[in-house]
Amino acid sequence: MTSSPSYPYRLRLPGPISIPERIRQATARPIVNHRGPEMRVVLEEIQRLIQPLFGTQAPVLTFGSSGTGVMEASLVNVLAPGEKVLALAHGQFGDRYAQIARALGAEVDVIETEWGWAPDPAVVAAKLETADYRAVITVHNESSTGAVTDLAAIGELLRGRDTLFLVDSVSGLAGMELRQDEWGVDIVVTGSQKALMCPPGLGFASVSEKARKVIERDDRCPRFYLDMRKALATVDKHETAFTCPVSLLFGMQEALRAIHEEGLPQVFARHKRLSDALRAGCVALGLPAFGDPATASRTVVVAAVPEPLTAGPIVKHMYETYNTVIAGARNKLNGRVVRIGTMGQISEADILTDLHYLELSLTALGHKVPAPGCGVAAAIASLR
Ligand SMILES: *Cc1c(COP(=O)(O)O)cnc(C)c1O
Repeated sequence: MTSSPSYPYRLRLPGPISIPERIRQATARPIVNHRGPEMRVVLEEIQRLIQPLFGTQAPVLTFGSSGTGVMEASLVNVLAPGEKVLALAHGQFGDRYAQIARALGAEVDVIETEWGWAPDPAVVAAKLETADYRAVITVHNESSTGAVTDLAAIGELLRGRDTLFLVDSVSGLAGMELRQDEWGVDIVVTGSQKALMCPPGLGFASVSEKARKVIERDDRCPRFYLDMRKALATVDKHETAFTCPVSLLFGMQEALRAIHEEGLPQVFARHKRLSDALRAGCVALGLPAFGDPATASRTVVVAAVPEPLTAGPIVKHMYETYNTVIAGARNKLNGRVVRIGTMGQISEADILTDLHYLELSLTALGHKVPAPGCGVAAAIASLR
């Protein structure tokens, strides 16, 4: 069965997300010379406007790739086969980061944290005493569980060490605070299709001076397209080493303008306010927040599905009846959680609509909600 035409299509995934109209229109502009002055102006503005989102003054490199591509870039440029990596894994994307390091021939130690919780800096501190690690890798906002890592605390542990700190903030950056320079993060990678409100296909990586020294060594993994030495050699000229995704960059320029027009603190506050309200609404409907409430994400709400329900039928019903696309899980949480994005230019209306359709879907599937409208009511109470 396909979705119902009587409801407008609502893309409510934790990425890719629905693109604001002004950004979508920007991506339709005529293509320009990818190395001419007309493109350099765009790349210069993007560089200037994106650095505050990373919390860095370091160069931010642009790649035509999904988020995973820049995760790989962060590793292939700093590792040599056989070097040791400490992976802090607390969900699907942390596992992926460790897998990439292994694929590149690194010797990977993993600190596994229970899914839903964030890595414990004390455990990391103890592990750092046991070996010389080339890099510690982790995920800022674990989209599969909704847990947020305390990057400042882990960065602090690495101060004065040779170990690099590499962070996947694909689903965190632009939706919550990130202070790369202050927190001692060496490379942050992100993608265009999450809180940056663009179509999929652009990856960014910011590179600290400390990381740059390692990247520029000739004894790292074999690399070509993702070679950051090539990207670093062109970034100051506002060019990319290879043909850049011109249309996506037009969109990114517009997205960054929109973010700064609203104001970064305001954008972060809105993400927090709406994610808190959506979470409160899910709890009221009988879907408790998954994981540790103290480290809850602002860009995704991960709600536990009460037995005997499973996530699959809820996701299916939301789509087929209300044309609303939410996510389940494609990992060991499959069936047990539903995930709804709260990133990008969303409003109160979006989350209240989510909760209304969620209540109707749950009810249709035989779940008794405590009172009609209780999800929406709890969200409204949280918004006040
Ligand atoms: C979406 C996402 C990625 C990247 O996924 P791609 O499909 O390769 O763009 C990586 N890490 C996290 C935390 C994500 O949410």
